[in-house]
Amino acid sequence: MARSKVRVRFTGPMSNLASRLTCAALAAGAVAGAVVGVGSAAAAPAVLAPGTEGLVPGLAASYTFASNEARAQGIPIWITSGKRSDAEQRQLWRNAIATYGSPEAARRWVLPAEESPHVRGKAVDVGPWEGAAWLERHGHRWGLCRTFVNEWWHFELATTPGTPCPPMWPDAAVRADRRGN
Ligand SMILES: [Zn+2]
Repeated sequence: MARSKVRVRFTGPMSNLASRLTCAALAAGAVAGAVVGVGSAAAAPAVLAPGTEGLVPGLAASYTFASNEARAQGIPIWITSGKRSDAEQRQLWRNAIATYGSPEAARRWVLPAEESPHVRGKAVDVGPWEGAAWLERHGHRWGLCRTFVNEWWHFELATTPGTPCPPMWPDAAVRADRRGN
């Protein structure tokens, strides 16, 4: 069961930056073995990536496959914000209004709770920039797409795996207004 040991070590405590960096270093070597077992066989990975808790299952699985592949290539990547509670999103919304000066300006960056895909478990913000850039280039293999021009960190399931991503929206407000939600 050497393979399970590797998985456990990789998905261990990664809640702070220091251990994440350590994990990223370990991952380059360790994940290669884990990915073989996960990627080819099942529809869902055996161990989900840290930060995927509460996401819709398809997004949690797709992000896990993608981040495993990124790390196998030595690319650092992690979720900075995934599923958010109603209360968390309301606080972000209040902060954004204070920061940007008006609800209209804030909506370009943060949506109210009832409109946010994060509250529905349908979006992930990732970092660092290098990891996000990798995901923007390769995420379509798992259906993951960057969705907004003004947010390099924000990804959603937005295409059929293996097909190109749709054009990005200028920002979250434009899409929310266009969809009428
Ligand atoms: Zn986001």
